[in-house]
Amino acid sequence: MRDSMRPNAARRRNHRDHRGYRDEPSVPPGARTAERLAEELRRMDGSGYGRYKSLRGSWAFDGFTVEVERVQSDPFAPPSRVAVRLTAEEAGFPADLWEMPVRARALADHLARRLRRALRGGAFRVDAGGQEVLARSACEVRGGEVIARAGVQLPGHGRRIDGLEARRQLCEALPAAVAESLRWSALDPEEVRAFVDCVDDTAALRGMLPGLGLVAFVADGAILPRASGVDQRPMAKGAVPFSSPESLRVSVELPHRGRVTGMGIAEGVTLIVGGGFHGKSTLLQALERGVYDHVPGDGREFVVTRDDAVKIRAEEGRRVERVDVSSFVTDLPTGADTADFSTDNASGSTSQAAATAEAVEAGAGVLLVDEDTAATNLMIRDARMQALVAAEKEPLTPFVDLVRPLYAAHGVSTVLVMGGCGDYFDVADRVIMMDAYHPSDVTERARALAEDRPDAPFHPVVPRRPDPGSISPMARGRRKISRRSDDALGFGEHTIDLRALEQIVDLSQITGIGLALDHLARRHLDGRTPLRTALAELESALSENGARALADGYAGDFAVPRRHEIAAALNRLRSLRVTPGEQGGDPMN
Ligand code: ADP
Ligand code: MG
Repeated sequence: MRDSMRPNAARRRNHRDHRGYRDEPSVPPGARTAERLAEELRRMDGSGYGRYKSLRGSWAFDGFTVEVERVQSDPFAPPSRVAVRLTAEEAGFPADLWEMPVRARALADHLARRLRRALRGGAFRVDAGGQEVLARSACEVRGGEVIARAGVQLPGHGRRIDGLEARRQLCEALPAAVAESLRWSALDPEEVRAFVDCVDDTAALRGMLPGLGLVAFVADGAILPRASGVDQRPMAKGAVPFSSPESLRVSVELPHRGRVTGMGIAEGVTLIVGGGFHGKSTLLQALERGVYDHVPGDGREFVVTRDDAVKIRAEEGRRVERVDVSSFVTDLPTGADTADFSTDNASGSTSQAAATAEAVEAGAGVLLVDEDTAATNLMIRDARMQALVAAEKEPLTPFVDLVRPLYAAHGVSTVLVMGGCGDYFDVADRVIMMDAYHPSDVTERARALAEDRPDAPFHPVVPRRPDPGSISPMARGRRKISRRSDDALGFGEHTIDLRALEQIVDLSQITGIGLALDHLARRHLDGRTPLRTALAELESALSENGARALADGYAGDFAVPRRHEIAAALNRLRSLRVTPGEQGGDPMN
């Protein structure tokens, strides 16, 4: 039965009771009617702003329920929060769009975008996504039920309630937007299916990569460059579509789209070379973001990277807490123990060494490195420098000596952009040259120029056991988790600098990371559990339950982050304390 055929909430309730098949009632007990809401808002007009508090609770509209979850105390406070709920029957989506978790996530993402568009220009704010499709609080679909959340700035004249405008927003704009954007009968079925199928295909492709021995796939025809450095939409004019070199071409069969060809990047060590401005970093950035699914039309829908791929970069000044960086660094002039290394102010090279060890600890299977953001002295050391600076004076073992053992002994692949130095020819399994945005396979030519290079061992990473007491979101007696600017997280009394985490792709993931850290500390860490184990537990809760696994009463927008960014944020929390596992014992690799 269509919602539009039901005249009012009371009848809907009878209808439900009569059928009696649903465990979750479509209208919660105690819900007031939409008519009553309109009446109360009219009556509130001109009253003190605090009277808005009485809106808290459930309101039964025709075909959906509104839960007013939070009411701002004054017009200048953070917006109030409403959740809109449509039962599976009210929303009416066919089961094939939500039965599989990946399709439910895609559908929810699409609905959030539709709702944002329908509510644009009014008092509501819907935190729908950008180019990536993430699990987020703004919309969830479970068992066909649709729950959408929005912030709303309750209107006022100064500190007086503007009840008429509030009524227009809550009782007219909101129902109209819900009707046109959250119900199957109002949507274009082709468009919804295309969106869900596209995400489904991407996820399927990502799932195929290990079986194909690949770490990433870049589809022919993909548009990699972006509109600008601050705009992730595709470059509008003049973009050269990706075309795979024949020797690296792979063909895959996707569930909806069918056959797709593109460049497969195999496990092992891959080097991307080429002149400046020829598209090397653009390719690597597409791989960084290929751990997420993209919206149709993004240009990178079928640029897909294994989800354990982690961007590694230098980050001077960061804190490091008891990390074994001894594969890279020995005999510091300070005499510090590099197998148990801490600092409040890392150098470029030690920060990158720590980031590498931490990524492996958190379960990274692929490292992504770009010369533009790497510490040169950690990447290479050429023959002349070796001749000048005696080996015993140089504490650093360059990455070029470690990148093969990382793969051979630990199964960790690397994709590396390096246009300025040929040393990596010695250790690369394949070399891709970018030439005017066209890739070619120059492995044979590079191999002819390669020399023998002795490896250095990459020591197994010692699992650290974080002390949950050192991970506290509390500040002056209250939980404080808030995004600060575009690249920092306020967490309790600390601010975590996230500028170096390039795989945070959505501002709402920052809040998600804060919630995840709190969750990790309260539920998964006890001082004895290794970080990696706790992350794996959290990750399985997230993949099972999506945003809901983190919400825990948080009344605000957030998106689900990856385990790697959660770990990286934790590693940058200045209060973090850990106990290292036994040296030599209990290695994870
Ligand atoms: P490199 O790392 O090789 O120096 P970049 O990847 O930074 O080069 O790219 C240089 C410029 O070329 C950037 O402005 C980027 O947007 C643009 N660009 C990259 N790939 C393409 C492409 N396929 N088509 C058109 N422009 C591109
Ligand atoms: Mg570059």
